[in-house]
Amino acid sequence: MVKAGLALGGNLGDTVALLETAYQLLDDHPQIMVLKTSRNFTTSPVGVSAGNRFINSAALIETALSAEALLDICQQIEYDAGRVREIHWGPRTLDVDIVFFGSEIIETERLTVPHPACWYRRFVLDPLCDIAGTTEHPVLGVNYSTLQSRLKTRPFTVDLSQLAPARREQLQFVLKDFQAAEESDGTTLANLKLMDCPLQSRLQQKLGELYEHNLPGTFEDHLKDVLNAILDEPTPLQ
Ligand code: ATP
Ligand code: MG
Ligand code: MG
Repeated sequence: MVKAGLALGGNLGDTVALLETAYQLLDDHPQIMVLKTSRNFTTSPVGVSAGNRFINSAALIETALSAEALLDICQQIEYDAGRVREIHWGPRTLDVDIVFFGSEIIETERLTVPHPACWYRRFVLDPLCDIAGTTEHPVLGVNYSTLQSRLKTRPFTVDLSQLAPARREQLQFVLKDFQAAEESDGTTLANLKLMDCPLQSRLQQKLGELYEHNLPGTFEDHLKDVLNAILDEPTPLQ
């Protein structure tokens, strides 16, 4: 038996009811036991076409299934919730992701575990810390509560020191929006600070990756998505 962390979210339809149904379906499965579920949080949407605010939640489960078989179940639950896969990062009734699967590190065509974006997404980490904050991330070597609290630092610092000058200039252009926000509400970030800690270097690597991959949409939008996912303050639902 393996303990796994799941991250769920949606922003179309009655998300709270869909989450309850999802947890029920998981628990009804003969090889899955839902051990804990988190509070529900409202969070900012990620992606230019994501739509309204999301409701996010997380579950700690125990399962005898393989990670791939668990992904099949998660996708079946998304399908049953009426998810239409049209726009990547678009509005959806339900997204069910595997954040961790025991301490396994999985890198296949269908599955990357731990979830590659979990470490910079408050909308994943805040619910997850309700149920598995002390679980260690097997690649980063710290627990999920530590990952979460690192994102709470204000001003948040981005290390651009390793970047080529042209790329740095391009990133600074995007970061200006966030710095302008800092002046008006005091919540966001300062850049250009030399720091040698794992979070900073992974963020810098991530910014580089986004640049290299030239993901759909503009580069600026994706950089903003990463920063928005870092700077968002999820609010527990009453
Ligand atoms: P993001 O990965 O940024 O959260 P998403 O959840 O919206 O995006 P989906 O459309 O739900 O993306 O899934 C796209 C594919 O991601 C799935 O078909 C699945 O094979 C793959 N995938 C890779 N790793 C995982 C994981 N850890 N959990 C769930 N799906 C994963
Ligand atoms: Mg997802
Ligand atoms: Mg998904």
